[in-house]
Amino acid sequence: MTTTDTADLMDYDEVMARFDPVLGLEVHVELHTNTKMFCGCPTAFGAEPNTQVCPTCLGLPGSLPVVNGKGVESAIRIGLALNCEIAQWCRFARKNYFYPDQPKNFQTSQYDEPIAFNGHLDVVLEDGEVFRVEIERAHMEEDTGKSLHVGGATGRIHGADYSLLDYNRAGVPLIEIVTKPVVGAGERAPEIAKAYVGALRDLLRALDVSDVRMDQGSLRCDANVSLMPKGASVFGTRTETKNVNSLRSVERAVRYEMRRHAAILVDGGEIIQETRHFDEATGTTSAGRRKETAEDYRYFPEPDLVPVAPSREWVEQLRTTLPELPWERRKRVQQEWNLSDLELRDLVSAGALDLIASTVDAGAPADEARSWWVSYLAQQANSRGVELDALPITPAQLARVIALIAEGALTNKLARQVVDGVLAGEGEPDEVVAARGLKVVSDDSALIAAVDEALAAQPDVAEKIRGGKVQAAGAVVGAVMKATKGQADAKRVRELVLERCQ
Ligand SMILES: [Zn+2]
Repeated sequence: MTTTDTADLMDYDEVMARFDPVLGLEVHVELHTNTKMFCGCPTAFGAEPNTQVCPTCLGLPGSLPVVNGKGVESAIRIGLALNCEIAQWCRFARKNYFYPDQPKNFQTSQYDEPIAFNGHLDVVLEDGEVFRVEIERAHMEEDTGKSLHVGGATGRIHGADYSLLDYNRAGVPLIEIVTKPVVGAGERAPEIAKAYVGALRDLLRALDVSDVRMDQGSLRCDANVSLMPKGASVFGTRTETKNVNSLRSVERAVRYEMRRHAAILVDGGEIIQETRHFDEATGTTSAGRRKETAEDYRYFPEPDLVPVAPSREWVEQLRTTLPELPWERRKRVQQEWNLSDLELRDLVSAGALDLIASTVDAGAPADEARSWWVSYLAQQANSRGVELDALPITPAQLARVIALIAEGALTNKLARQVVDGVLAGEGEPDEVVAARGLKVVSDDSALIAAVDEALAAQPDVAEKIRGGKVQAAGAVVGAVMKATKGQADAKRVRELVLERCQ
């Protein structure tokens, strides 16, 4: 253990008075291709350990890799969406290191010839300010297996009795996206780090290349932080906080490291170049391993794979498949729905905006889509303790419910029951309507019978209506609605009451 574990922290304002931060963000995204990057094994998350493996991803002698075309296509689309140049010709490289979760003793990655390079991502901060993050590269590689350390208190290897290995994840396609050094962020560095990872997540989701689940590790962020004295231009020594697994933690980890570095530096101490682990519970980081330099990995070109040389026609064809980017969509819907900046920000921070937009794209009017997501569905998400987008209902399903209301087939009350059914896993809206018998009673003969019955039950009210007191009809309408368990169209019932009393 190093002395950096007993950390003093400097007050954040004082950090900013003395230092300028430099960030470097490395994001690993697991692609949701059906098969692994260099073999035909499936990639589904959560399968029994070591059931999704073959000689190639286990690194057995004589097995040969074949590159996954869908993986290359996704890498190019990500590169294009990040405004990168796409290599005319590039190769895979072997990154050599021994670790039990890496059965080949090397990771097939890319080194000096990445598929995409020199891009940028414009990140919109909470107050609307835009900060441009320059992208150094996006390259293809494969994931490692997973070690499970048993017996220790922390789940880490230290103190464990033994370790188990699961190679299901070994060989799953990964894209690593690396920023250029982020300078000039100043006091907003932690916020910019969070906003960048959030924008990248939204972008990757819109591209439909990954599940982007930080909690399941399909999107992981390594945050490099260093400080230099105010006005200096030579970067300080950096630390790399590994595998930060939520947006909030990215912000906290960067802020913590800035405060920790500053306290060491003003004390005349030295920052050790190392990896750090972020502890969600305490909000602190602790030392990992000393950081290897690039030559320790003895990279060399992978001899078993042919170079990747995407034709310009293919690249341009892929460019046409790029979806509307999340921030463009936000700008468009803000105008179309006539939202103030504050309203827009509220919808974005509630995670509702993209869901509403998708519901509108599926044919629903904007007002109704918005009202469902921010009220009834927000309540449901709240009571389940999940994010809005984790609710088991899709924008298309909600749009169908809204269409059924517009057709008069559902009342609002019935529609909520249909949504409840979808959330409970009872199927598509139409299936729930059929299974629960929730259709509005619009058959006039059934309604007339119910109206006549209600009039007969309240002869004095019927007499008033016949005498011209149409406002008395409300009581009869109420009785019919009650008798039909809310499944009648109230407007039609009222018309029938008045007709029957003429
Ligand atoms: Zn395999």
